[in-house]
Order: sequence, then C-alpha cells, then structure tokens
Amino acid sequence: MTDKPTFSIEFFPPATPEGVEKLRLARAQLAQLNPAFFSVTYGAGGSTRDRTLEIVREIQAEGLHAAPHLSCIGATKDSIRDHLAEFRAMGVTRIVALRGDLPSGMADPGEFRYANELVAFIRAETGDAFHIEVAGYPEFHPQARSATADLDAFATKVRAGANSAITQYFYNADAYFQFVDEAWARGVEIPIVPGIMPIASFSKLARFSDACGAEIPQWMRRRFEALGDDTASVKALGLDIVTELCERLLEGGAPGLHFYTLNQAGLTSTIWQRLGLA
Ligand code: FAD
Repeated sequence: MTDKPTFSIEFFPPATPEGVEKLRLARAQLAQLNPAFFSVTYGAGGSTRDRTLEIVREIQAEGLHAAPHLSCIGATKDSIRDHLAEFRAMGVTRIVALRGDLPSGMADPGEFRYANELVAFIRAETGDAFHIEVAGYPEFHPQARSATADLDAFATKVRAGANSAITQYFYNADAYFQFVDEAWARGVEIPIVPGIMPIASFSKLARFSDACGAEIPQWMRRRFEALGDDTASVKALGLDIVTELCERLLEGGAPGLHFYTLNQAGLTSTIWQRLGLA
C-alpha cells in the first residue's frame, strides 16, 4: 500500500428542494478541504435513483469528483447496465458497489444476491473504466453467519475486482486494525479506508448504531450520558473523541479517512482541520 492516503466525504441525496440547497452550501464549504471525492448514497432498492444521479451530476459539473453508490439488491442486469452508462456519460470514474438491503414490502431480490456479483458484473461490462470501492465491516456485518464467514465474503468480493474498500463507522480502532490484518492474511491487499462518523447528537448516534451493528464502547456511552442535553459539551466531546480516533488510525497506517457527513459541513471541517489535512 504505497498510494497516497485518500480523504473523502459522503453525502446522501436530500428529499426536498431545501435539502438540496443546504447540501450545495455544505458542499461548497467542504470542497475547500479538497477531498479526493464526494460519494453519494443510493437508497435501498433504487428508491433514490434519480436524486442520487442529480447530485452526482451537480458535483461532476462543478469540476469535483463524485463517486455514486450503487446497490444491486432488487436490481436487474439491464438496470445496472443503464446506470453504468449514465455514470460514464457524466465522466464518473469511481463507484461504491454494494448489495444494499431489500426495502420492506419489496419481494423480488432481482438478479444479484451479493455485492461480489455486482463487482464482477461491473468489471465484466466496463473493464477498468471504474475504480470500484466496496464496503467492509470491522465489527462485522449484522447478518453475517460468523466473523470468519464475513471476512471470507469480504475477500471474495475484493477478488471479484474491487480496488479499495470503505468501512462501516466504528469507535474501536483495534477492531479496524484486526480486520485489516485478517483481510491481509486472506491475501486482500487493497487499501481499506476507515469510515468516520462525527458525533452531533449522541442519542441519534446510539439509535442508528444499534440498527447498523456499530458498537458504541461503554466508556463513550457513559461519558455522553453524563452530559445529558448540554449540546455544546456533547459536540466538544464528540470532536475530541473522533479526532483522537482519526489520529490513532492514521498513525497505525490507515490509508485515508472517509467522512459520513450526513450533509453537514461543520464537524467534518473541524476534524479535518484539527488533523492538519486541509
Ligand atoms: P455484501 O458484501 O453482499 O454482504 C452482505 C452480507 O452477506 C454479509 O453478511 C456477508 O457476510 C454476506 N455475504 C456476502 N457475500 C456472500 C456470499 N458470496 N455468500 C454468502 N454470504 C455472503 N446501503 C444503502 O442502501 N445505500 C448506500 O448507499 C450504502 N452505502 C454504504 C457505504 C458503506 C461504505 C457501507 C459500509 C455501507 C453502505 N450501505 C449502504 C449499507 C449496506 O448496503 C448494507 O450494510 C448491506 O446490508 C450490505 O451491503 P454489502 O455491499 O456490504 O453486502
């Protein structure tokens, strides 16, 4: 892993015109940090298809690099082919390839079962046109049969043609380092970039983390609980904890950082500056 570290930023496609306008402002602020790319999430089962494409189009038109997420559960090969053609027409060169989750009420799983099948399909259809990112789970995917099965599935997905990976967020640096070691032991030598979730509200973070299988360490939980509704102190503690986590990850050899901004510029900008990345 001799490549330059990659620092990147994630958005979701807003559902309202006001949200789109706020995102434009956040993006203008975050663009000053000069991230390698802005990724844009893709709603389960294609629910944000047009909105994701619209944000990607805007980012590309501003001369910045967009990396659309693309999930395959519920999709057909033809629909993925159409997406790939649209991305190429927009000048996109990086995709975050995912399985995604079938939305409740949607019964047809489509023509792909796992992300490794999507990665192989993108490679077969488009050769080296795209840098393919995949998802990694240092604390393991919530549906995985076992930690070992999840690591094996990750290695299979990478071998299908991924160039690099972005992880689920976590607050336990050791889980990340161990995941990377285990991936390397399976011959996976691509950069595995930690996903970083800045903390704006601890109660929201706790709810979200339960759903996606990210662990909040007990010491963190207790420290935030002690602050109650004191939002300024929560923000200050969150900034300290996340900045220290980033420092530890970079010192330990992490090949970059990917920030889950939730379309807010402030916390990510502050952490970025504290790390001296700007
Ligand atoms: P996979 O890699 O396919 O893994 C899914 C599960 O199946 C795991 O438990 C794995 O162990 C198992 N598995 C994988 N391959 C096999 C196999 N060949 N045989 C048997 N078992 C297998 N969700 C969205 O809806 N939109 C987004 O934009 C989005 N972006 C994300 C970005 C990142 C960086 C991350 C970490 C997650 C993102 N997610 C997103 C969430 C993701 O879609 C879910 O976590 C989803 O449940 C799994 O997707 P995956 O690509 O990791 O799936």
